[in-house]
Amino acid sequence: MVFDTLDPQLPVIRSMVREFAEKYVEPEAKRIDGENIISRELLSRLGEMGFTSMRVPEEYGGPGFTLLETSVVAEELSRSSSGVGILATVSGDMVAYPLVEYASEELKEKYLTKLASGGIGAFALTEPCCGSDAASLTTKAVRDGDEYIITGRKTFITNSVYADFFLVAARTGKPEDRHRGITLFVVDRSDCTEVSKLEMMGYRGSGTGEVLFNECRVPAGNIVGEEGIGFKIAMMALNEGRIVTASTGLGVAQAAFEEALKYAKTRKSMGKPLIDHQMVASHIADMAVKLEAIRSIIYTAAWKADQGDPDYIRMASIAKYSAAKWGNDIVRLALQVHGGFGYSKESKVERLYRDIKMIEIGDGTNEIQKLVIVKALTGKVKPFRMTAK
Ligand SMILES: Cc1cc2nc3c(=O)[nH]c(=O)nc-3n(C[C@H](O)[C@H](O)[C@H](O)COP(=O)(O)OP(=O)(O)OC[C@H]3O[C@@H](n4cnc5c(N)ncnc54)[C@H](O)[C@@H]3O)c2cc1C
Repeated sequence: MVFDTLDPQLPVIRSMVREFAEKYVEPEAKRIDGENIISRELLSRLGEMGFTSMRVPEEYGGPGFTLLETSVVAEELSRSSSGVGILATVSGDMVAYPLVEYASEELKEKYLTKLASGGIGAFALTEPCCGSDAASLTTKAVRDGDEYIITGRKTFITNSVYADFFLVAARTGKPEDRHRGITLFVVDRSDCTEVSKLEMMGYRGSGTGEVLFNECRVPAGNIVGEEGIGFKIAMMALNEGRIVTASTGLGVAQAAFEEALKYAKTRKSMGKPLIDHQMVASHIADMAVKLEAIRSIIYTAAWKADQGDPDYIRMASIAKYSAAKWGNDIVRLALQVHGGFGYSKESKVERLYRDIKMIEIGDGTNEIQKLVIVKALTGKVKPFRMTAK
């Protein structure tokens, strides 16, 4: 693959993660889905491998993976368990990346090293009132001397069940300021935070929950970036996040494809293996084409982001949308190839079918991705850098 030539570490990382996932994640995957929880032992192993701190630079104790490398880790972990894959990507990218890019040195020292030593972070933007319309969020941060008092409710927050700290988008300005009145804070898990686990349809085990911030006092120094630019930072985190979230969907689709191919080669109908029936073979070919297309788009998006090419924002939404659209096609066909067994709780594709739907919703819905793509095509999307303010 061309990307293995561009980054010779890529095949090494892929085989290292696959070996880890097959040994420690795959045997746990069914239980994680059933019980909706990842064991403390597996969380520790993920931390030790650097999977929950992927983007943390080596100087803070992390592996310092590029976005392309992070995408491959997300793909390989999710091939075994989407819950594990998304846990790693949220902590290791969506939380780590804004801290690396925009936090003060003091915050980096404290929280990047925390991630590198196995701590887990969560990214808290969505609220019961508003997901797509995040600029309407209502969680408040009120200044009191050298501190802010944060009060509000966030929902669908991945990792919140396990998180040691949260990146929280809160309103420091007036509601009519919309996105300009939003600031990003680091908030430690403590007595003022209350997490209620949610029973989601797929990506189970990812510790997705509702989080109540009940008058949490945080030092002003816990602002990531500056007051009033939190929304822009959150959007940059989401742009990167779309690439790695898409990678988790790619891992799910890859697993479904492998299951379908295996089943089509062994299951017989009318005297011959399913794969020798032209219509089933056509399904398998269709899946293989879409899988390669998604992979190429995701890696291109990640490579562009790593190179600092501003076009990565358009590509990130294309990556997320293609993983959602074709990923769902792939898993649907994989279930179809399995017939009645695919529809039973005994089959692996039944879980993958529930999992893949998430890619059409989390990290910006399909509809929102299309809006971003068109905005980018009409020159209305600009990457944000604090220095360019
Ligand atoms: C498993 C899971 C994990 C998640 N993890 C996190 C997390 O870690 N952190 C976090 O902050 N959030 C997280 N989310 C929240 C997720 O980002 C939101 O659910 C998503 O952005 C959609 O927001 P919503 O649910 O409020 O739907 P709504 O915004 O209410 O949208 C409902 C429907 O209307 C459509 N719609 C809305 N506005 C428009 C528009 N302007 N144009 C066209 N169509 C529109 C949407 O596409 C959708 O189909 C997670 C969600 C899920 C399901």
